[in-house]
Amino acid sequence: MEDLEFILENPSDGTVIIAGCYRINGQVMDTDIKKCAYCNSEVIYYDDYDAYICAYCNKWLEKKCGDSNCRYCLNRPEKPLPNANELRRLKYN
Ligand SMILES: [Zn+2]
Ligand SMILES: [Zn+2]
Repeated sequence: MEDLEFILENPSDGTVIIAGCYRINGQVMDTDIKKCAYCNSEVIYYDDYDAYICAYCNKWLEKKCGDSNCRYCLNRPEKPLPNANELRRLKYN
């Protein structure tokens, strides 16, 4: 698979690099524990938002919790990552 390193985990500093250019605080989950419900890929636990995401689908895998004071959900963007075009721009700039 050509995009094997689309998701690159860096356990030493607790970050994950996506598409070689976009770094988030988080960790890649074991697929035995959790998988993307849409594409079956490995998922990332995104520390900043206390939620799982699929980097391939660019989706949150959980709904917001419904607490209007929740600091995680309050700041949660519609999608967890920049879209593919934006990632490409980040990468090649
Ligand atoms: Zn997915
Ligand atoms: Zn919440």
